[in-house]
Amino acid sequence: MGRLICDATNTMGIPCSATSDPGTFFRELTPEVTLIMLDLIMPKTDGIEILRLLAQQGCRIPIIFMSGVGKRILESAEQLAGSLGLSVVGHLSKPFRIDQLEAVLHRQIAEGSPRSEHAVLHIPIADEELRNAIVQEQFVVHYQPQVQLSNNRVVGIEALVRWKHPHRGLIFPDLFISRMETLGLIDQLGWIVATCGLKEFKQVVTPNGTPTVLSLNVSIFSLRDLQFTDYFMALLRQHDVSPHNIILEITESGLIKELSSTLDVLTRLRMKEVKLSVDDFGTGYAMMQQLRLVPATELKIDKSFVQNMHTSDSDRVMVQKTVEIGHDLGMNVVAEGVETIEQLEFLRSIGCDVVQGHLFSRPLPIDQLVAWIKRHEGI
Ligand code: C2E
Ligand code: CA
Ligand code: CA
Repeated sequence: MGRLICDATNTMGIPCSATSDPGTFFRELTPEVTLIMLDLIMPKTDGIEILRLLAQQGCRIPIIFMSGVGKRILESAEQLAGSLGLSVVGHLSKPFRIDQLEAVLHRQIAEGSPRSEHAVLHIPIADEELRNAIVQEQFVVHYQPQVQLSNNRVVGIEALVRWKHPHRGLIFPDLFISRMETLGLIDQLGWIVATCGLKEFKQVVTPNGTPTVLSLNVSIFSLRDLQFTDYFMALLRQHDVSPHNIILEITESGLIKELSSTLDVLTRLRMKEVKLSVDDFGTGYAMMQQLRLVPATELKIDKSFVQNMHTSDSDRVMVQKTVEIGHDLGMNVVAEGVETIEQLEFLRSIGCDVVQGHLFSRPLPIDQLVAWIKRHEGI
């Protein structure tokens, strides 16, 4: 099969190599590779295992499945790949004809990578590169403004880290945060981002004395350290920033998993008046009982609900209920991932407090953010 594909692509002028050995496959995955054609059933391994390994390594190369398995299995595999953050761009059911293969390849060449805004990242990231990134602090922080719906004012900014890789360009956090957690590097990354964020936050002018808040994403793993509150308060003092101007965002799924081991740190942070936000709300299946126990001040509706609320009744209900629950529990409710006026107006109509998303601005470097705020606030 591999030979056949190579012959066909070579006649199209596209270099190709084929292997059924996983070791050889990963060795040959160089930056030049622009497409992977993956057979779901292989002699030494199966395609699902390869997908997991590709995902672990942050692979961004488009993938085409080839397989003789049924449509249902193919769909499940596509869904799995999607949930792992991989990009499946098509499939070929075996046996297929050469003209079908050529059609798929032509389409792929014409369309290119669907996530071109993201870093060009064709080869897996090695653990050593991640360790090195921390030692050399190869990170920049971008900020996305948050706008109060009632008065259209900028009330906060969220710090979002990017890895400025010396060779690969800008790498987005979805590709490295969980690896940093596994490698035990996430605490150090958190301090690097917090330090940069607190330093740059000073440049954000607060028009008409409206206090602006800096939101920082914190991994739940970092909150298992009983000293976290003391270290964090010391950092705030060092940068002369009041805890009233800080929100720490922690994911709902993390909170559910680690509530008992982090509740004391969360409570101490609140006692020091640092605000807490439940991020990605709705994706972690929190029981109401548990949510009540989290001393949070804000609920952040996950962008997947916001983006689907005009096509899915259940997502719309979820958004509406989250606003109600948040308000019933005395919390501020933020919707992220707002991209259209339609979404904005619906959120306004149900009383959501704050919005954030590309409709207003993408995350920006601090100087561009400051200029954006000035334009937005007319100052
Ligand atoms: P998040 O905290 O849920 O951040 C929101 C993500 O949505 C950001 O992706 C942001 O760029 C993106 N976004 C904002 N508005 C829109 C929109 O209108 N449409 C769409 N499609 N996307 C939008 P980003 O920057 O790639 O960050 C991804 C995740 O990485 C974050 O999700 C957060 O969980 C994590 N992360 C980012 N910075 C840090 C950090 O400093 N520490 C930790 N522990 N995690 C971080
Ligand atoms: Ca967040
Ligand atoms: Ca989120």
